[in-house]
Amino acid sequence: MSDCELCIRSTLPILWQNKTFRIVLVNNQNIRGYLRLELIDHVKEIHHLTPAIQSEMYKIINIIEQIITDIYKPEKINLASLGNKTPHLHWHIIARFMNDNFFPESIWADPVRHNKFENSIDEINQLKQQLDLNLNH
Ligand SMILES: [Zn+2]
Repeated sequence: MSDCELCIRSTLPILWQNKTFRIVLVNNQNIRGYLRLELIDHVKEIHHLTPAIQSEMYKIINIIEQIITDIYKPEKINLASLGNKTPHLHWHIIARFMNDNFFPESIWADPVRHNKFENSIDEINQLKQQLDLNLNH
């Protein structure tokens, strides 16, 4: 769809992609370890996907969780699929820390702290390397 933000080429760095999915680094929100898994095609709901694609999607989410845990050692991982404003299937997979700006609320709540966070080059390289290693086989 021409007016869909996720159908237009992403302005966020793509960490990994295949013919069905891409994983981007959400680096514009002052949060470390925030990835988004996006369907490449414009699909609105999970039940519109074939069982094989659904199962690939859950496998990728699971791998992303493990990789984020290994690299960032977060307190918790948050997983969200909303799509009210952008009805193009995507998942927010977010490392959460006790000292992040929103903990223990969701990252869409009002901030309770005002610190600066960003991913290091090393963390970004590790993400790419681990995604390639775990997803390209
Ligand atoms: Zn779309």
